[in-house]
Amino acid sequence: MSKVRKYDVCIIGGGITGTALGYFLCKLGKTSIAIFEKSYLSSGSTGRCAGGIRQQWSTRSNVRLAMRSVKLFERFKEDVGMDIEYKQGGYLVLSYSEEEAEQFEKNVKMQREEGLDVEILSPKQVSERYPYINTKGLVMATFCQTDGHANPHKAVIGYAQAIRRMGGHIYTHTEVKSIEVTNGKVTGVDTTAGYFACDIVVNASGPWSNEVSKLVGVDLLTESYRHQILVTEPLENFFPMMAISFSGNFYMRQTQHGQFILGQGDKDEKPGLNFNVTYKFEKELASKMVNIFPFLKNVRIIRHWSGMYNMSPDAQPIIGGSDLVKGYYYAVGYSGHGFMVAPAVGEALAELIVFGKTLHTDISYLDIKRFEGTVVEKEKNVV
Ligand SMILES: Cc1cc2nc3c(=O)[nH]c(=O)nc-3n(C[C@H](O)[C@H](O)[C@H](O)COP(=O)(O)OP(=O)(O)OC[C@H]3O[C@@H](n4cnc5c(N)ncnc54)[C@H](O)[C@@H]3O)c2cc1C
Repeated sequence: MSKVRKYDVCIIGGGITGTALGYFLCKLGKTSIAIFEKSYLSSGSTGRCAGGIRQQWSTRSNVRLAMRSVKLFERFKEDVGMDIEYKQGGYLVLSYSEEEAEQFEKNVKMQREEGLDVEILSPKQVSERYPYINTKGLVMATFCQTDGHANPHKAVIGYAQAIRRMGGHIYTHTEVKSIEVTNGKVTGVDTTAGYFACDIVVNASGPWSNEVSKLVGVDLLTESYRHQILVTEPLENFFPMMAISFSGNFYMRQTQHGQFILGQGDKDEKPGLNFNVTYKFEKELASKMVNIFPFLKNVRIIRHWSGMYNMSPDAQPIIGGSDLVKGYYYAVGYSGHGFMVAPAVGEALAELIVFGKTLHTDISYLDIKRFEGTVVEKEKNVV
C-alpha cells in the first residue's frame, strides 16, 4: 500500500501571497509545507500587476500594513536573496477634485501621525519638480519618497527559491480539486497530483478565492473584476516614481529597463473571470495619458494584457482563520493592492498559524467577521 503524503500546511496558490506565506512559515521553522499552483508561479494577478508599493492609504490600518511591508521589501535582497528591482522612487498621488484634495489633507495628517514622511505639493510645485508633467486641472498632489515599485515575478521567484532552500515544497501545474474536511476540521487536499493529508489549508488563490472557498462551504464575499494594463517600448530612464490618481483614474511607472507600465480601472466592468483585452481601454488610456504626460506621444505600445482585482466589500483584504472549518485560513480580496502588502500579510499569517497570534502587525481588523457589524470603513485610495 502506498504511503499517504502529508504536510502540516497546504497552501493553494503560487502568487505573491502563497509564496510570501510559505517563506515566513519556513523561516519560523515550519518547513512541512506545500504550495499548490495550478499553472506556473506568478501566473495569476501577481504576474499581471504593476508592481507598485505604496504606503499612502486612507485607513490607518492599511498604512500600518503597508509600512511594515516596506520594511520587509527594503530587506528583501538581503533576507530572501533576490534582487527584485526594488526602487524607492516615491509615489506621486495626483488629485483632480476639490473634494478628494480635502480628503488627502486628512489622509496626510493621519499618515504623518503613523510616522510616514509625506509631502503635500501644489500644482506649481509639481510643475517645478516634474516639468514633464502637464498639471492642467490638477488641484493638489501628495508625495512619499519611501513608496516605490518592484518586479512582481522576481519577488515570487525569490520567495519560491528560498522556500525550496529551507525544505518547503512547491507543486506547479497542480490544481487543488477538493479540500477534505472531517468532523469540522481540515484533513487533506485532493489535487491533480493526488491526495495530500494536512492539518491546515490556506486559500491564497487570488481571483479564484471564492470558488476555492466554496470547496469547504465558506463564502468569503469576494468577487473578481478584470483590470487591463499595458507596457510601452523603452525610453531612457528618467521617471523614478509611480504616478497615480484616483480621481483621474490611472497609474503609471517606468521599469528598470525603461518601459512604461500604465493602467486604469473601468467602472462598467462586470464581475467574472475575463482575461480578454479591449481596444476601448487602449484608446481611452492613451489619449488621457498623452495629455497628462506629453512625452508619451508617439511612444509605441508593446503589449497589453488583463488580470483580476479580487474585490472585497470594503476594498480591504480578508485575512484570517475560519471559525466554521478548523484549520482553514485565507488571505484574499486584496482589491488591487495585494502585491505591496503581501510580505507583511505573509509574515502575520505565518505567525498566526505557528503561534496563534501575530507578533509584528495586527491583522485582526481584516478578519471576515468585520462584515457582521454595521459600520465598515471603506478604503478610498484605489484605482
Ligand atoms: C492590472 C493589475 C494591476 C495591479 N497593480 C498592483 C500594484 O501596482 N500593486 C499592488 O500591490 N497590487 C496590484 N495589483 C493587485 C495584485 O496583483 C494582487 O492583489 C496580488 O497579486 C494578489 O496576489 P495573490 O498571490 O493573492 O493572487 P494571485 O497572484 O492571483 O495568485 C493566486 C494563484 O492561485 C492559483 N490557483 C487558483 N485556484 C487554484 C487551485 N484550485 N489550485 C491551485 N492553484 C490555484 C492561480 O493560478 C494563481 O496563480 C494589480 C492587479 C492587476 C490585475
